[in-house]
Amino acid sequence: MKSEFQQKNTAHHFQPFSDNKELAEKGIKLISKAEGVYIYEDNGKKYLDGMAGLWCVNIGYGRKELVEAASQQMTELPYYNLFFKTTTAPATNLAAKIASLAPAHMNKVFFTGSGSDANDTNFRMVRRYWDLKGQPTKKTFISRKNAYHGSTVAAASLGGMGYMHEQGDLPIEGIVHVDQPYWFAEGGDLSQDEFGLKAAQSLETKILEVGEENVAAFIAEPFQGAGGVITPPDSYWPEIKRILAKYDILFILDEVISGFGRTGDWFASEYFDLKPDMITIAKGMSSGYLPIGGVIISDKVADVVIGEGADFNHGYTYSGHPVAAAVALKNIEILESEGIVEQVKAETSPYLQKRWQELADHPIVGEARGLGMVAAIELVKNKATKERLAPNSAGGGVCRDYSMDNGLIMRSCGDIMVISPPLVITKAEIDELIEKAKKTLDDTARFYNLI
Ligand code: PMP
Repeated sequence: MKSEFQQKNTAHHFQPFSDNKELAEKGIKLISKAEGVYIYEDNGKKYLDGMAGLWCVNIGYGRKELVEAASQQMTELPYYNLFFKTTTAPATNLAAKIASLAPAHMNKVFFTGSGSDANDTNFRMVRRYWDLKGQPTKKTFISRKNAYHGSTVAAASLGGMGYMHEQGDLPIEGIVHVDQPYWFAEGGDLSQDEFGLKAAQSLETKILEVGEENVAAFIAEPFQGAGGVITPPDSYWPEIKRILAKYDILFILDEVISGFGRTGDWFASEYFDLKPDMITIAKGMSSGYLPIGGVIISDKVADVVIGEGADFNHGYTYSGHPVAAAVALKNIEILESEGIVEQVKAETSPYLQKRWQELADHPIVGEARGLGMVAAIELVKNKATKERLAPNSAGGGVCRDYSMDNGLIMRSCGDIMVISPPLVITKAEIDELIEKAKKTLDDTARFYNLI
């Protein structure tokens, strides 16, 4: 019997990225409060949130300082726009703060409401850039298969998710996709480094096929998040850098997940030593307390799109929303003043990665990988052949449900289980996460009669 609340949800709420019919049949969980790295269901069940919400609650739940920043800003000035030759203190201060943390060659920020519309902004800004440069044929974007860049029309097209492209005739024209550096599934007999080079070289092949004069930009996540925490082989990024240096195309690094400390550096550009022209940001920028996103822009791009005689007819009602910006600013100040990013780098991420490797010994784990505060395991029935637990990635769903039963939020990306916990997670909480993950793997293996 469904509760009155569940029935109301079924009757009126169309939920994103969900099998709404299944939710109606099985009933939905109501999450009602949270503190630190834990979330609670209304029935009192406690979960360790191994996903930091949706890869975003970097400073953890329940920080009163963010509540106060929002309340103060709402009282003083709940809203004003950035279009009428005006700005607000939080928008300007946040832009300056982000520029101070970003790579040295990047000094301007354009604000959006989310990661998806930030990538739409990139799409329009890059094309505007080449038009202003007098090279209007440079229109094509190169992205990667199994990338995730958002859900709007341009962002879903930039993404490389087949199950999204199937709906609504995507990708739109002018967006093509090259290979991803997913060694576990696609590496074959090649070593990691050989495969990393091969995957990177598919970018060069595509540039030559499309013609350098027609290519506008290459967009990529530093590691694919929603694709299954695909951490590229060490050879991948240096080869991409070599290719990008050779051709005159822009480089958009989508740091919606990796930004604001997740790798143990403020940005993954630093972690992987990359020099993007644009960085997409959202999520950890406000630790998800309020929606806000943006694009950090290099001086090279800014000089053109904000240069003499240039204008850019683009913006959102909620670009740089003052309350969201005040909360983001306070969030970043806390990440800074409490040394959270440094602590991730020096202590907690090495500890998490070391303990996560213990899962590689489990009979249904084909690979355990990760970096910073993200990690993944590949679920298999047979370690040698990499045969999956069940057809159509059903094993991932089974494992995710056991994980919930065991009080741990892990996400399944097909046959890959992923985590991306709050950056404030302690070593004791990491121990708890690992123990719960081990029990979840045992339960899943038992379900398939493998132990
Ligand atoms: N880019 C990346 C890399 C993402 O992971 C996401 C969201 N998961 C987005 C863009 C889209 O962000 P949003 O959901 O805020 O629109």
